Amino acid sequence: MHDNLVLFKDISYLRTIDHKRRPLYLKLLGERVIDALWHLPSNILVREKADQLHQNLTNKIVTLIAKVVYHDAPKMRGSRRPYRIVCEYDNLELELLFFQSREAYLRRIAPEGKEILISGKLEHDNKYGADQWRITHPDHIGYPSNLSRWIGIEPVYPLTAGITQGMVRSIIQEGLQTLSPIPEWINNELITSKNWPAFHNAIQQVHSPKTSLDLDSTNISRQRLAYDEILAHQLSLYLTQKENLKLPSPALAGNEILKEKLLKNLPFSLTKSQNQALQEIYEDLNRPQQMLRLLQGDVGSGKTLVAIMAALQVIESGYQVAVLAPTDILSRQHYLTMQKWLEPIGIKIAILTGREKGKLREQILKDLSSGNIDLLVGTHAIIQDTVNFPKLGLAIVDEQHRFGVEQRVALSCKGYNPHILSMTATPIPRTLMLANYGDMDVSTLREKPPGRQPIVTSVMSIERLDEVVEALNRALSTGQKIYWVCPLIEESETSDFAAVMERYEHLLKLFPGKVAFVHGKLKSLEKEQAMNSFINGDTQILIATTVIEVGVDVPAATIMVIEHAERFGLAQLHQLRGRVGRGTGHSTCLLLYGNPLTWVARKRLETMKATDDGFLIAKADLRLRGAGEILGTRQSGALKFRFADFNSKEESLLDLYEELLEIANADVRQICRQDPNLESERGQALRLLLRLFKHEEAFKYKRAG
Ligand code: ADP
Ligand code: MG
Repeated sequence: MHDNLVLFKDISYLRTIDHKRRPLYLKLLGERVIDALWHLPSNILVREKADQLHQNLTNKIVTLIAKVVYHDAPKMRGSRRPYRIVCEYDNLELELLFFQSREAYLRRIAPEGKEILISGKLEHDNKYGADQWRITHPDHIGYPSNLSRWIGIEPVYPLTAGITQGMVRSIIQEGLQTLSPIPEWINNELITSKNWPAFHNAIQQVHSPKTSLDLDSTNISRQRLAYDEILAHQLSLYLTQKENLKLPSPALAGNEILKEKLLKNLPFSLTKSQNQALQEIYEDLNRPQQMLRLLQGDVGSGKTLVAIMAALQVIESGYQVAVLAPTDILSRQHYLTMQKWLEPIGIKIAILTGREKGKLREQILKDLSSGNIDLLVGTHAIIQDTVNFPKLGLAIVDEQHRFGVEQRVALSCKGYNPHILSMTATPIPRTLMLANYGDMDVSTLREKPPGRQPIVTSVMSIERLDEVVEALNRALSTGQKIYWVCPLIEESETSDFAAVMERYEHLLKLFPGKVAFVHGKLKSLEKEQAMNSFINGDTQILIATTVIEVGVDVPAATIMVIEHAERFGLAQLHQLRGRVGRGTGHSTCLLLYGNPLTWVARKRLETMKATDDGFLIAKADLRLRGAGEILGTRQSGALKFRFADFNSKEESLLDLYEELLEIANADVRQICRQDPNLESERGQALRLLLRLFKHEEAFKYKRAG
């Protein structure tokens, strides 16, 4: 019924839009009338009535009515001398100055002998011993009867070249006239408790600031709009995810037999965090609805074991498990770890990557489809069409960040609907979590298994490379293993290995026979050979790009050198550092930086030196980099809001938006339970909200599904 709201119309609908400038308006204001109304003032301007020309008013914006005495036009066209209109006010002379103005026009708006309304910035001069009053390019010249309209407080809008304040103001004013009450989509209780105005009133108010405080993001009208925006975003997130969220999956109760067997074989007991996470996972698995759970925990917190236990409950229930890793190397590592724990208790486990070819591949596929394989590890290739899991009950997706949410969707689309457990070692601050994954459930491993050696981190200039090499020499003689990470150069894929090769040749000369390298250009077999010689062979120094960032587990490695550490993000540095300190030996991390260091880079390195807690590091990262970047390009739009600035540097504001996000999240959960098709009165209003914030796709998707 509100389909024809003027708010949704193209801005050209407004009479005040000058069609020649349409491209500029589109750029500045957006496409629709509502978009223009969301162009908020960034400042206010106080226009005072000048009762007399007084020094107090110097440089203030004033409005007054004066009599035009005469026009003083420059004699020659193109003269640099300004056009003057001399007026009389309060028995004093007031001159209006114009540069490059048309005489005919000025004579029409300010005829000699007539009283006119003038508004603009009053300038005062006393050069020749006498007071001189002047207004250069008045903001407005018009009829005295309009005086009251030119006194008071006005909003000042951000502009773009070719558009004036006056133009934007008229457009916004016209837009505001079209506003009328529309159905409320925020729930009653909330709107009452927050004392928020109705939507149309909020829009009116943000365009009529009374003081500069009204421009603040905490102003209640702006707050309401921020909430509207967050609510629209969360609702759209839920609606688009719901296809996955609501799928039925088999309830897998398990029978404890395999789990108990494994627990008996463990040389240690599970941490409290691990037990807690497992409790949550077991309960999810035992429900006839798809589990979508994220398991987050710092490097070394023991996620793999949790995943293994989860897998056992599924296998006990007679179902299969797929473990998906982002790379071949990681697949192989998971395979080896899982094999170590699972084969002794009789589980059939296999790996399938691009490397398994021919007969071997056929055999694996056959065993899988006959149900002979309980657990298959591999890259995402294992959910491709040729692979047939007759009873896939659980997909464990390692490293959410790299792997992406798309695979989750792909999995469900294949008609498997397995329960899904995603694992990430990069803790995601709650704000990002909610805004990106909506109601995905999260289990967190906060504590690490006991007995871990802390990693000592040093930060030093790369100019001290010789000292570093000297120290390595000593470490090598005691049999230690060393990672040496080189950064990407200018984000270019071809140059990343150049740095690796250069460092390789340098170190190889010093330590012949002890150095190997891996980078993104190598074939997976070559990578594996390098890794193997590092894990089992004579190689003691592995030069690498961030290929080794995720998941690689070499307990004997005790030293991590990161060259040009200032070029890495915090999360990345933390991941890299997590590659050492995995065994019992004492470990160190050397962060070598190049000069000059930016402020942010310095802060990052300081943070790394100061803490080893992934959650603290994630929070520092959020505050240093802003939200968008942390999640990578694909999801970077998710926290870019017009009103709710999650990238703000003001802590109190961030707290406010985080609170609003929590509220919206809870509200959306309830809406989706009570009125999943948005059919109630409030549901209809919410559809309107989605359209206002251009999330109508979410609803279409929902209906199609
Ligand atoms: P993550 O994958 O979270 O980085 P892992 O699962 O690789 O961590 O575990 C790191 C190491 O800690 C592994 O060697 C694992 O066997 C060991 N580990 C896991 N849980 C425990 C525990 N409860 N007590 C002692 N060691 C554990
Ligand atoms: Mg791991």
